[in-house]
Amino acid sequence: MKSVSLYTCAPQLSNDMAEVLRVYMGNITLLVNEPGGDFCMTHSEEIRDNTRFVRIVMADSAAEESTKLTGDEVIDKRLRRRMAKLCTYQLMKKHFGFTPPWGSLTGIRPTRLVYAEMEKGKSLDAAAQEVQRIFDVSDEKLAIMRDIITVQQTLPQPKPDEIDIYIGIPFCVSRCAYCSFLSGEVGKGELLKPYVEALEREIAASIALLKEKNLRPRTFYMGGGTPTSLPAPLLSRVLHAARPLMDQCSEVTVEAGRPDTIDRDKLQSLKDARVTRISVNPQTMHDVTLEKIGRRHTCRQTEEAYHLAREMGFSHINMDLIAGLPGENLSMFQDTLAWLKNLAPESMTVHTLSIKRASLLHLWEASLPDGEMVADMVRAGALAAQEMHMQPYYLYRQKYMAGNQENVGYALKGHACVYNIDMMEETANILAMGAGATTKRLFDRKGFIKRAFNVSDIRQYIDRVDEMVERKRELWGENEGTVLS
Ligand code: SF4
Repeated sequence: MKSVSLYTCAPQLSNDMAEVLRVYMGNITLLVNEPGGDFCMTHSEEIRDNTRFVRIVMADSAAEESTKLTGDEVIDKRLRRRMAKLCTYQLMKKHFGFTPPWGSLTGIRPTRLVYAEMEKGKSLDAAAQEVQRIFDVSDEKLAIMRDIITVQQTLPQPKPDEIDIYIGIPFCVSRCAYCSFLSGEVGKGELLKPYVEALEREIAASIALLKEKNLRPRTFYMGGGTPTSLPAPLLSRVLHAARPLMDQCSEVTVEAGRPDTIDRDKLQSLKDARVTRISVNPQTMHDVTLEKIGRRHTCRQTEEAYHLAREMGFSHINMDLIAGLPGENLSMFQDTLAWLKNLAPESMTVHTLSIKRASLLHLWEASLPDGEMVADMVRAGALAAQEMHMQPYYLYRQKYMAGNQENVGYALKGHACVYNIDMMEETANILAMGAGATTKRLFDRKGFIKRAFNVSDIRQYIDRVDEMVERKRELWGENEGTVLS
C-alpha cells in the first residue's frame, strides 16, 4: 500500500485528513511525524474579541481554513475536524485538479448535514445550497439529497416513545469476497442452535424491557448476515420469539438476501409471521461475476427465488445491486438493470462497490471499472429507478467506495423502508439484538445519542447474552450525562 507522510503539531486530526487524501489517492496509509514528511499541517487557536478561532494551514500556506469556535466541547471538536478536512481538500484539489462528486464530504450520512442546516431555520433548498457551498458537492449529488429529503419529509416521523427493532443473524452460507459485515459461515452448523437459544433469551428480556419503559415498536428489521441461512425450524423459532414485537409493527422486514437460502418452507414461515418486506439480492445478473465475488449462487436461482416469493404472495420485494463489480462494464450493469425492470420489484438499492481489504483490491485492481464508468453505472441505476417510477428515499456512503459514489435506496411510492431511513438518519431509538448489534438511545437534546454494543464474536455472544441484556437495561436507566457519539 502506498504511504504519504505528514508533519504536524495536531496528530489528533490526521485520521480526518487521511480520509480526504484517500478520496484523491486511493487506499493510502498516512504516516504521521516521521522524518522526511511529504507535507506539513499546522493548527493554531487564538482569541479575538472574546471569541476563540481555529486556524489550519497546510503546505506553506498553499491551503488555509479558519473558523470561530463555539465553546461547546463536542461541537468544537467537530469543527476542528471539519477544518482539517476542508484544508486537506483544498490542497488536494489544487494538486490533482479535479473535483470529486461529493467534494470534501467523507462522512457516511451526507443528508444529515442538510438536516442540520434546516434545523437552523433554512428551507430545504437553502440548506442544501449551504452544504454545497461548504463542501463543494456536485449539482448531481445535491439534487439527490434534496429528492431524498423531500420523500423522507412525507413519512411518519418517529415519536419519543417509539423504537425500531433490529435482530441480527450473523450467518451466511458462504462469504462474499467483498463482505464487510459481521457474518460467519454456517459451516457445519454447530453454532446455529446455541445462537438461536441465546437470541431467544435476549428477545424475551428485551420485550420485558420495552414494556417496563413504555416503549412501542415502530418498525421491525431482521438482517445479518442472511437470516434465511438458518434452517427452517430455527428460523421459525426466532420468528416465534419475536412475534410480540413484529405484531406491533406495520413494517416488518426480513432479509432473505442470498437466493440460495430461500425455499418454500422458509418463505412460509415468514408469511405466517406476517413479514411485509423481504430482500432477494441479485447484486448482478452475470454468473461469471457472481462466481468471481464468491456468491455461490446463479442468476437463475435469483429468478426462481423471486418468482417463488411472488407466487407465495409477498407484495414487497426489495433487490440489491452493486455498481463497480470486477470485470463489469456499463453495458453489463445495464443488462442487470433491464432484467430487474422486467421483474418489477417494489424497491431496489443500488450500492457502489466498497473494498476495505487491500489484498482484495490488489487482486481485482486490473478488472475494476474506473471511476467514470462507476459514475455512469450509478447514473444508469438512477435512470432505471425513474423508469420504474421509484423515488430515492435514503442514501449512505462508505469508506473506499468505487468512484467516490454512494449507496441509494429507491422505492415505489408507499414502499420506502422506514427502518432504513431511521437507521441512516439516526432519528429513532433502536433496540438491537444478536451478535454485533448496536442499540441506540436518542436523548432530548438534538444529536445526542448513546449506544450499547453487543459483542461481535458469536461464541462470546452465546456465553454472555445476559450481559448484553444488562447493557441495554443500563442504557435505558441512564440520564443524558456524557455523550458517547
Ligand atoms: S450475503 Fe451479505 S452478509 Fe453474507 S457474506 Fe455476502 S455480503 Fe456478507
